[in-house]
Amino acid sequence: MPQHHPILEAIERLKTRPAHAPRPIAVYDLDSTLFCTGPRNLAIARAFSEYRHELRPFVDRLEAHRMGWNVMADLQEAGFADEAILTELRHFWRATFFTDHFVKMDGVYPGTVELVHVLRNAGCLTYYLTGRDDPGMRQGTLHALESAGFPLPSEDVILHLKPTWEEDDLAFKTQVFEDLRALGEVVLAFENEPANANGFLRAFPSATVVLHATIHAPDPVPLDPGIHVLETLAGQWLQGPALQ
Ligand SMILES: [Mg+2]
Repeated sequence: MPQHHPILEAIERLKTRPAHAPRPIAVYDLDSTLFCTGPRNLAIARAFSEYRHELRPFVDRLEAHRMGWNVMADLQEAGFADEAILTELRHFWRATFFTDHFVKMDGVYPGTVELVHVLRNAGCLTYYLTGRDDPGMRQGTLHALESAGFPLPSEDVILHLKPTWEEDDLAFKTQVFEDLRALGEVVLAFENEPANANGFLRAFPSATVVLHATIHAPDPVPLDPGIHVLETLAGQWLQGPALQ
């Protein structure tokens, strides 16, 4: 018996969709949903420590896969307490995190590449919807998608980045909901931010909305009932009979 799993159940429903139903869409956030930003944050801290050598021993204690939301906080937890240097690092981080160069450093969470392919093969339009900005991060994002083995933009794969860096992520994504409705039916959405996950479920109540429980911005809003919280997007279900 296949184990109860919201993604598996969504795949099962895809198999029984009427031929005339709107095109199914799977929407994926990128940062901290498909991609792990830990290596990017660590690379930024390491690059900055070239200028502030006293930071280096603390950077060396960090591990990419255990980085939190805020690299300054990670360094404080590692014992670094110079507030002036941490403030400098904060400025350096803001100038580097959202760039083509550093976005290529990201890791990939287990199972995510396989998941996107499985859902695409099951008939879903692949829609990457990200708060990464188009002017600063498109090339780096395409490079990262290709390196990791994710499907690249094509007839049934869309990459939608934020038009400006300054725009609020949730406001941007909410505006895109209308585009999604015009394209088909959102059947699955993957997010790491509770507020964004809530936005998806409120806009698309019949969709399977998954919160990948990685890291998220401070002070998260309460998660709406009905959102599926998953510690990992990997699992045996990816090779299960539902996919054959
Ligand atoms: Mg995210």
